[in-house]
Amino acid sequence: MLSCRELVEFLMDYCDGELPPEQREYFEKHLACCPPCVAYMKTYQQAICLGKSACKDEEQKPPKMPEELVRAIMAARQAK
Ligand SMILES: [Zn+2]
Repeated sequence: MLSCRELVEFLMDYCDGELPPEQREYFEKHLACCPPCVAYMKTYQQAICLGKSACKDEEQKPPKMPEELVRAIMAARQAK
């Protein structure tokens, strides 16, 4: 069984599809019983997608603002 730390080390290879099938199986077994690692992987994949689309996308859409940031800005405005 992989530890969370090992999973993170394999994450890049897994996302690139470079992980050998055997390790891939361990990886997926860990994901099946470790929701935090699933969440981490999704964040990682989104970061990759954003990075790739930023290079490809000529429209250069601004990234969606995180809700926390929006709230912080709203709070700062109200404070004035
Ligand atoms: Zn984990």
